[in-house]
Amino acid sequence: MAAVATAYPRSLVTSLVRESVEARRARILAGDVSSSSVDDIARDVLERLGTIERPSLRRVVNATGVVVHTNLGRSVLAPQAVEAVNDVARGYSTLEYDCATRKRGSRHDHYERLVCRITGAEAAIAVNNNAAAVMMVLQTFAQGHDAIISRGEQVEIGGSFRIPDIMELTGAHMVEVGTTNKTHEFDYERALTPDCAMFVKVHPSNYRMTGFTEGVDVGRLRAIADSEIKRRKDACNDRPLLVYLDLGSGAIASIGNGDAREMTVMEALKQGADLVSFSCDKLLGGPQAGIIVGKKGLIDRLKKSPLARVLRLDKMTLAALEATLRLYLDDEHAYQDIPTVRMLTEDVEVVRGRAERLRDEMLRRIPKDAASVEVVPEVSRAGGGALPMYDIPTYACAITFDRGSAQKCFEYLVSERRVPVIARINADRLIFDARTLLDDDEISLAAVAVGEYFAVGEDAVQSAGGKNDGRRAVSHEVA
Ligand SMILES: *Cc1c(COP(=O)(O)O)cnc(C)c1O
Repeated sequence: MAAVATAYPRSLVTSLVRESVEARRARILAGDVSSSSVDDIARDVLERLGTIERPSLRRVVNATGVVVHTNLGRSVLAPQAVEAVNDVARGYSTLEYDCATRKRGSRHDHYERLVCRITGAEAAIAVNNNAAAVMMVLQTFAQGHDAIISRGEQVEIGGSFRIPDIMELTGAHMVEVGTTNKTHEFDYERALTPDCAMFVKVHPSNYRMTGFTEGVDVGRLRAIADSEIKRRKDACNDRPLLVYLDLGSGAIASIGNGDAREMTVMEALKQGADLVSFSCDKLLGGPQAGIIVGKKGLIDRLKKSPLARVLRLDKMTLAALEATLRLYLDDEHAYQDIPTVRMLTEDVEVVRGRAERLRDEMLRRIPKDAASVEVVPEVSRAGGGALPMYDIPTYACAITFDRGSAQKCFEYLVSERRVPVIARINADRLIFDARTLLDDDEISLAAVAVGEYFAVGEDAVQSAGGKNDGRRAVSHEVA
């Protein structure tokens, strides 16, 4: 303890010793009379120090092949975005200062022109995430009024974000139309009342219905809304009727193909939506944020809403968002520099090259009789609740274990490494998908970690017992 107390703040060590003694005392009072030594207390204090010292939020190597992995932080920022964050974080910035007029500026100025140029929208506002964007649109334009939504689009996005609940929270009066599998134009037409404020359309991001199904697309909702607006004009009813699309993923680049292709933001606007909202850290490949694009008059109202202040972005997110959006001005840069877009579109032969380098490095570090490693064709996933039917061909390194096991090695890589390496288990093999390995540094990290599992890991995992069971789920849980 004396050595520890010189390496760490004395007050911290003292309080940890007290906590440890207190915990022991409580166990004795509860009837546990097994003996414990000063050494036990010291070991316990060291363990407590370890958990305090190790950052909770830290980098991992994603070898799952799920590109936009919600549990692993969704999108990886482009180097240009990282640099922009660094720049504004370490000093003062033009966050709300306009150097041209030398007057107070607006946070919106940093991204709005770029969003409009890229998507063709009249105006845009960015908020904390797309869930916040959905809430803000409903609260601002549909509170106390009818909002019509298809029963087939009453979705749960995950993390307890359910469309019916969010509508109730905002005070919008939800009018459900159609059935689970089929909703027709006449369903919307019949449900229309002179008070209806909005058609709400929600993109089914994370699931697909196939077979006997039908929905009404944005273009046809636009036509229904236009004839209703004309009717209202003739009846001197000036209640607006909006077509709003929660697009979810927010693809700007074209990703996927055929039926498994995400509608882009530009396409959604062209079909006639008044407002479209989308996430910035899914297919767009930027920081966590949500953008609402649409008619200027509507966006101006959102900017004046008290929720705009509640849900506003901080300077680091704004910096990353602006830098990411700027990369979209040049298609080629978007596909090369934005890691999410690059990983989703990268040629499978390039991925195979990375898988082979990983195999070679692993073979150099794994004892000959311990395991075999081969490069195998596999399937990556977009993740982030996007493109659920899109099988992205990929190559992976598969380890078959003669010593130890895939499960034990998996536990070692996740729970015992300073930089955890997250692979997945398939039929007793450990699979490392090379599509989501970012660079040679990550290839080495993964190979070194596996090598050390065979050197020391098997014992380390046994001594760790089952204490990390809760973390095992991480690679299986997709978005
Ligand atoms: C992901 C998603 C959301 C939530 O977006 P966040 O940016 O994660 O808050 C809302 N709607 C749809 C359709 C989505 O796919």
